[in-house]
Amino acid sequence: MIMHVDGAAWVLEVAGAPLVRRERSWGDPGPGLALLEVRGCGVCHTDLGYADGSVAPRAPLPLVLGHEVVGRVLAVGTGASESLVGRLVLAPAVSPCKRCAACVRGRATSCTRGRMPGNDADGAFATHTFVPAHDVVALPEPTDGAGTIGRASLYPWQLAPISDAATTAEQALERAKVVLGDVAIFVGAGGVGGFGAQLARLRGARVIAIDRAAARLEALATLVDETIDASGLEARDVRARVRETIERRGWSGAPVRVFETSGTPAGQKVAFDLLTRGGSLSVVGFTPEAVSLRLSNVMALDAEVFGNWGCDPALYGGVVSAALEGALSVAPFVEARPLDEVNDVLERMHQGALQKRVVLVPATGATTPQPRRTA
Ligand SMILES: [Zn+2]
Ligand SMILES: [Zn+2]
Repeated sequence: MIMHVDGAAWVLEVAGAPLVRRERSWGDPGPGLALLEVRGCGVCHTDLGYADGSVAPRAPLPLVLGHEVVGRVLAVGTGASESLVGRLVLAPAVSPCKRCAACVRGRATSCTRGRMPGNDADGAFATHTFVPAHDVVALPEPTDGAGTIGRASLYPWQLAPISDAATTAEQALERAKVVLGDVAIFVGAGGVGGFGAQLARLRGARVIAIDRAAARLEALATLVDETIDASGLEARDVRARVRETIERRGWSGAPVRVFETSGTPAGQKVAFDLLTRGGSLSVVGFTPEAVSLRLSNVMALDAEVFGNWGCDPALYGGVVSAALEGALSVAPFVEARPLDEVNDVLERMHQGALQKRVVLVPATGATTPQPRRTA
């Protein structure tokens, strides 16, 4: 097969400088890869870190960023399933190698030889991209004229943030073994925290979401049990509010699972302070800053602390199904922007001006449904 498609990609050529639009063409996918026509790519704080130079991607520049991709498979390389050609798919943010010691012992998220688009290789801030074919999740075809899929009537691009934000949260719940009756507390209710709070509730947990942004808490209000606005509160005040909530709701005695999803030093202090006897703390958010904690609390409380980087592809199918069925609410938390506005989106994210997860949608003509403006 000789494949050739022309398109464009937004390229990080110099860290700290705006991305640059370049004409590109894509040929036959290499072994195990699939060539996607991109329908949407989520913009994540990781992309912002690479773009502004605070974090270095593993591949040398120039590099196309973007790792939360939904697209249609145009071609596959040797070793990949031909049945994927023509299918609409969601690609995992990280595809583990499946051969290293970590992969063999079932810790796919600890794989050091995995492939992450926009980090190890060119990503999906582009009209087309290559992704590993073995872990993509095939999506249903649109059954209506509007081009939406699933019982939740989602545009395919709306699923893009599941590739990282929602699945990373699911992996954290899995690691913390969240089950029916647990109390799950999310410190940080944006992206990962918002999806995590919903996914915890789907497991039957009682969920408390904490944030300093009233708008985020409002968006989650009907999807969780309790919200706590932490603006202006000290860590000890937040802890008092949480204790009061647990008592008032009659949840005392249930295992308490805390999730740090704000990726801020203040959030990390609050989350650590919420550790209870026999409970756990999952570190999911990222900040390069250090915080001072009394680590002996972990010993004194017989508690567990763990982190997770990304998600095992084996968990993707369940999260995608929950979104397609409407059990996991996605649409109110995502908004589309044209791919060509990527630099503006990164700038606004840098300023903290984005409340919703942005998905970049390339303008690829009549076959692509127009993104629904949700703002
Ligand atoms: Zn990401
Ligand atoms: Zn591996």
